[in-house]
Amino acid sequence: MADDIFKKLIAHSKEYGFVFQSSEIYDGLGAVYDYGQNGVELKNNIKKYWRDSMVKLHENVVGLDSAIFMHPTIWKASGHVDAFNDPLIDNKDSKKRYRADVLIEDALAKIEAKMDKEVTKAKKRFGDSFDEAQFRETNPRVLANQEKWNALHKRFSDALNNNDLNELKQIIIDQEVACPVSGSKNWTDVRQFNLMFSTEMGSTAEGANTIYLRPETAQGIFVNYLNVQKTGRLKLPFGIAQIGKAFRNEIVARQFIFRMREFEQMEMQFFVKPGTELDWFDKWRETRMSWHRALGFGDENYRFHEHEKLAHYANAAVDVEYKFPFGFKEVEGIHSRTDFDLNQHQEFSGKKIQYFDPELGKSYVPYVVETSIGVDRMFLQVMAASYCEEEVTSSNGKVDTRVVLKLPTPLAPIKLAVMPLVKKDGLPEKAREIIGDLKFDFNCAYDEKDSIGKRYRRMDALGTPFCVTVDHQTLEDNTVTIRHRDTMEQERVAIEALGGIVENATNFKALYAKLK
Ligand code: ATP
Repeated sequence: MADDIFKKLIAHSKEYGFVFQSSEIYDGLGAVYDYGQNGVELKNNIKKYWRDSMVKLHENVVGLDSAIFMHPTIWKASGHVDAFNDPLIDNKDSKKRYRADVLIEDALAKIEAKMDKEVTKAKKRFGDSFDEAQFRETNPRVLANQEKWNALHKRFSDALNNNDLNELKQIIIDQEVACPVSGSKNWTDVRQFNLMFSTEMGSTAEGANTIYLRPETAQGIFVNYLNVQKTGRLKLPFGIAQIGKAFRNEIVARQFIFRMREFEQMEMQFFVKPGTELDWFDKWRETRMSWHRALGFGDENYRFHEHEKLAHYANAAVDVEYKFPFGFKEVEGIHSRTDFDLNQHQEFSGKKIQYFDPELGKSYVPYVVETSIGVDRMFLQVMAASYCEEEVTSSNGKVDTRVVLKLPTPLAPIKLAVMPLVKKDGLPEKAREIIGDLKFDFNCAYDEKDSIGKRYRRMDALGTPFCVTVDHQTLEDNTVTIRHRDTMEQERVAIEALGGIVENATNFKALYAKLK
């Protein structure tokens, strides 16, 4: 069922100009996607929501746009050349490649699903009097599965932390994990695979340099820390936020735009006084969760996930997970990165990267708390949460299905569509006149093709909050019909009231007001 919805979502994204497979006419390029005419608008609105919430709403957070190409030593210093690896494993029969850690995470998720199934069954049986927490603590089947989960989770964390590739393979064998393609359990050893793409800069004659396509935007922030701090005369604590492309040669690219080889990140590095980082970490994790929840997709669809293994630079880390059609998965990571990165750049560049603290009268390397979210994963979250199929009964009693994207209105690619009832009698001209007035403030669409009902459905499928119909009465009294996407209710309003109605319903302010 969930699988079904996901397939429909992918088809819908293509059919309505949101997301296309890259290079499709050449049979596509694996895990690379293009955003279509509606996708790019939605994506830009997501970026605006993030950027405004960071930079406009925080006096002490500023923006940056650093280059994708950077000095190759940066990736030595950051540890990415030596340690940005994923453990991979191949199935010998299907020749398919998997991430060993993801296979084990799936095995953990299967046990979780078993427990959830027991809970759902019991909920049905006991009705209102059901106490889920008590059930989970006492039901023998749940307890047995919880024990299995704990043991597997511990083995998995230990193997990751010890970088024990043989143990990862052994876990896969012991869990009897089968390849989804061949169905066999015939696995190769686990190997490490570096995820960075590289290219050459300069001609070979000059002695070309191998440079990397950045696998995260964060390093561009670290190496600009001094520039921004000095020129902005910024005092700790302060943050630098940037949105930009990142590239990872992902071993297994699946699940549409969830895991891509070229993607976009929105990252913010918050520089703090050493010793205060864990307080700031707690603060940012709440701030970020409130940003997600403000979109109104249901608090129960989010959870925090503590990391099994801390990255080499972190002293605390947590993921924000969203319940995608294929289960709870990471959309954002919040990491306390200590002074690792700035220290490394200090050492590798030979330049002092410090902060003079006027209160303490001494200099030190700041600590960093980072929030890092993928634009594309966020896009998928928004699409998955907004996609609805509803049964509707038309005036002639016919029941059919309406597909509607119930996007948070500020994120909608098109805010209103203006439609002449018929293609004659001066109605198209009147419709264009209305657009002429409103287009400076809102993305408007003009649509005159097909019946009004069909046009409404097309706009529902794009998530357009308002459809405005111009009819003969409009020519007499300057009123139009405005139809609301979610309720399908229609009302007659004066043309001059349109701007105010759309502005009130679609501006970002209401969203920002919900943020903690
Ligand atoms: P995963 O465990 O799923 O590979 P990660 O922990 O490596 O993700 P981070 O390095 O913390 O991810 O990156 C921060 C964010 O960037 C992620 O939360 C995710 O939203 C996004 N991201 C990372 N890799 C990809 C990718 N291949 N495609 C799309 N988004 C990605």
